[in-house]
Amino acid sequence: MGGKSVHKDSGALDKKTLTRLKKILLKEREEIVGEVRQTYESSKEMGQDGIQDIGDEAANIYNKQILLSLNENERKRLQEVDESLDRIANGTYGICDECGGPIGLKRLEVRPVAKYCVPCLTKLEKDKS
Ligand SMILES: [Zn+2]
Repeated sequence: MGGKSVHKDSGALDKKTLTRLKKILLKEREEIVGEVRQTYESSKEMGQDGIQDIGDEAANIYNKQILLSLNENERKRLQEVDESLDRIANGTYGICDECGGPIGLKRLEVRPVAKYCVPCLTKLEKDKS
């Protein structure tokens, strides 16, 4: 072989990969919120006393309502997804929160919300139990 080694591969994800993972995350977010929206819509039909004005305030209440109607598990998932999207936005996505090393694309493919690399995760889980 002896070709020039590609140094870029040491952890930073390229834009194309980021875009792809972001799409997955957004879809997951929609799935979580979408489920809730359905629940909310049907509970709304159960009868309210004719609120018609849908302004910002209503949208706020609506968002709160969504968060409130999420169960703990869904809320956690949503939070993880949002955190991941934040990390994509500020360029820290794919970097382990514990050691600062790359999480690895393989792991992110399986779990796009991953925050830790495998060695750190193993360590952290061990500490927990
Ligand atoms: Zn790590």
